[in-house]
Amino acid sequence: MSGVEAGRQRGEVTAEVVELGNLTSDQQLGLRQAEERLQRDYIHRLLKPSPEYPNFQYLCKLCSVHVENIQGAHKHIKEKRHKKNIMEKQEENELRSLPAPSPAQLRALDSAVLEAAEVHGISEEDFALRQAVVLRMEGIIRKQLTACSLRLYGSCLTRFAFKTSDVNIDVSYPSSMTQPDVLIQVLEILKNSGKFLEFAEVESDFHAKVPVVFCRDVASGLMCKVSAGNDVACLTTNHLAALARLEPRLVPLVLAFRHWANLCHIDCQAEGGIPSYSLSLMVIFFLQQRAKPILPVYLGHWIKGFDEKRVDEFHLTGMESDSFVGWEHRPAPAGEGRGEGKAKPEPKTQTEKKEKKAEYTKGKVSASPLL
Ligand SMILES: [Zn+2]
Repeated sequence: MSGVEAGRQRGEVTAEVVELGNLTSDQQLGLRQAEERLQRDYIHRLLKPSPEYPNFQYLCKLCSVHVENIQGAHKHIKEKRHKKNIMEKQEENELRSLPAPSPAQLRALDSAVLEAAEVHGISEEDFALRQAVVLRMEGIIRKQLTACSLRLYGSCLTRFAFKTSDVNIDVSYPSSMTQPDVLIQVLEILKNSGKFLEFAEVESDFHAKVPVVFCRDVASGLMCKVSAGNDVACLTTNHLAALARLEPRLVPLVLAFRHWANLCHIDCQAEGGIPSYSLSLMVIFFLQQRAKPILPVYLGHWIKGFDEKRVDEFHLTGMESDSFVGWEHRPAPAGEGRGEGKAKPEPKTQTEKKEKKAEYTKGKVSASPLL
């Protein structure tokens, strides 16, 4: 129960604002001491009352709850959520007051991070093996779908992947075909390839947010996840890979963080954990937000009309010579729901590309420096 609710339920919510002038000096001293005690619980007297709760004199900064008076504050302190918040705050304070690590501790941490990256991350040979799987699969698929091509994307390409991670493969197809068409045919082709011991355990998940075909490459034992026309994910991969090239510490840090999350069992999305992709983004965000940023941010308030609440109106368009991040601002049409962030299944046609060029001159499309 919040302080506000507590106040209301007692049914005595009246303008009980204590006028300091009406108190004796003893009472003033008592009040000051009580307030000092409350400040240790992060409950502070409001300098001016909130327009929403004009009769409430205190604010618990930990729980963002308005409290009516000293009695209400004491009641609030005993609430479960306040106790939980104060415990977390104390832990945070303890961590923040730890002395900075010594050079020897930093060296030990460095070698632990690098070792975790080495043991669990993919090596150059591992990467070459994954590329070979894509080429082999492309050869099989193109025997029937001659106009299609395959591309590697996701964590194997960014190198944020573990040795055990799935291999993300996307099928590019001509505009004469549709995504369901392509995936159904890919499913059949891969199933038939089982006869020649190429790909096994072929299964589809067409109800997923990004419909895919799963299969296991028999030769390497690697699990593959095949999507079609997943342009947005491929663009994001290219961006993350460019960041990894820009800052060599990024990949080992992501791998060590992912390994830690794995040890703590918080990385299993199916069990309500954090998807591995989000863990990579958290590391990137951390490096972007240092006092002296280690990685650049390519969208922000320096862009005219930028609004954090409408960040999903900005779309990546690609990397330009590894130094610029191309983006495009497409405001959502009035009345249309935002925040869907759906992958565009159809590849861009020639006319669309021309339209993009026209937009460039109108200033809707731009590029931010990566360096
Ligand atoms: Zn509180």
